[in-house]
Amino acid sequence: HAARENGVVVLRFDHALAQRHADRLQLAGRIHLAIERDEFELYFQPIRHAADGSPAALEALLRWPQPDGSFIPPSDFIQLCEDTGQIIALGRWVIRAAAHAGRVLADNGWAGLPIAVNVSAVQLFNSDLVGEFTRAAEALGLPPGALQMELTESSLMRNPAQAMQVLESLSASGIAVALDDFGTGFSSMSYLQHLALDSLKIDRAFVADVERNPRNAAICRALLSLGHSMGLVVIGEGVETEGQLDWLVAHGCDHVQGYLLGRPMPLRELLALLALARDSG
Ligand code: C2E
Ligand code: MG
Ligand code: MG
Ligand code: MG
Repeated sequence: HAARENGVVVLRFDHALAQRHADRLQLAGRIHLAIERDEFELYFQPIRHAADGSPAALEALLRWPQPDGSFIPPSDFIQLCEDTGQIIALGRWVIRAAAHAGRVLADNGWAGLPIAVNVSAVQLFNSDLVGEFTRAAEALGLPPGALQMELTESSLMRNPAQAMQVLESLSASGIAVALDDFGTGFSSMSYLQHLALDSLKIDRAFVADVERNPRNAAICRALLSLGHSMGLVVIGEGVETEGQLDWLVAHGCDHVQGYLLGRPMPLRELLALLALARDSG
């Protein structure tokens, strides 16, 4: 870092910055090995029909288990993977692992339950997502609709024109797309109406406190009406309390997801939970 002192430019070695670079490089190396050694795992969280609580879909969420039994959360490594381009390889692993889970679901009587896969902007604009999704499903004898995609508003806005094209081809291939973290980006209504979307996920920041906080309630009402006016399914994310759930149901939210309705968990556990609910009617 250059600083000017008494008219003289002084170059300083920034140890903190250098340490951050070294840490990131080391983490990138560990991620590379973890992909190679197949150490990542997918957890699955139910997305439920608001009206009766029956399962509507599952969201696949990446987990990186550590030798001590803990997990490194996606928020600690996805961004780095995007910066290094490793998200392409990791994303490919996720798509294939999700298809395997889709096969297990179908074999356990849940053929109609799609799995939603999170996809980053880097994947959207730098890989053949349509091909990867359709090939992964096909390889396991699943219809293209068995996998869905979740994209954030900010991803799409990085290149709206190209995003529009990719969404068109996804739609033509029968792959449903949800707009994730909706409300946190800056897309305008006029832009949204040109996108081939199937659903909107209201960000959990707005669902939190919705039954008590008039500002959040106003935002949720607006997002519900925007989504419904475009013919989209609206999903409330991060539902943690009965109060939030009641509010969303009363205001016509279609699907709900959150710790109250099921935490992210390994597929086997989720299958057991779903079977239990099905058997008890
Ligand atoms: P997201 O797609 O918006 O996923 C929802 C996040 O909220 C998940 O965090 C989930 O565990 C958490 N969550 C669900 N219900 C509740 C709740 O009731 N309360 C609270 N406080 N949190 C809840 P997670 O698994 O840590 O993932 C964080 C983000 O990382 C995801 O946000 C997604 O953007 C990204 N991510 C996860 N898996 C993948 C992946 O396979 N590929 C990519 N590109 N991104 C991923
Ligand atoms: Mg998501
Ligand atoms: Mg989200
Ligand atoms: Mg989120």
